[in-house]
Amino acid sequence: MLSCKDVTHLASESRDRELGAMERMGMHMHLWICKGCRRFTQHMELLGQAMRMAGKEPERIGDPDARLSQEAGDRIRSALQRRLNGGGTQD
Ligand SMILES: [Zn+2]
Repeated sequence: MLSCKDVTHLASESRDRELGAMERMGMHMHLWICKGCRRFTQHMELLGQAMRMAGKEPERIGDPDARLSQEAGDRIRSALQRRLNGGGTQD
């Protein structure tokens, strides 16, 4: 059985490379029983979406639109922060 540390490591690895079948299976089994890691991977997923929405891909650094993206990113980050802190639906 994978440890929480293994699972968080694999979760971040999975953004850069395709995980093997055994790795995915081990991760799923762990997530099935471990609420903490389930939350962690959900947050990672949210953050990944926010990054994509903000257009923060490395190739965009130096882009004239980067300033706008920065502002959008800040808005998304603070909205996300409220959500993660259980701030409810108020904006
Ligand atoms: Zn865990």
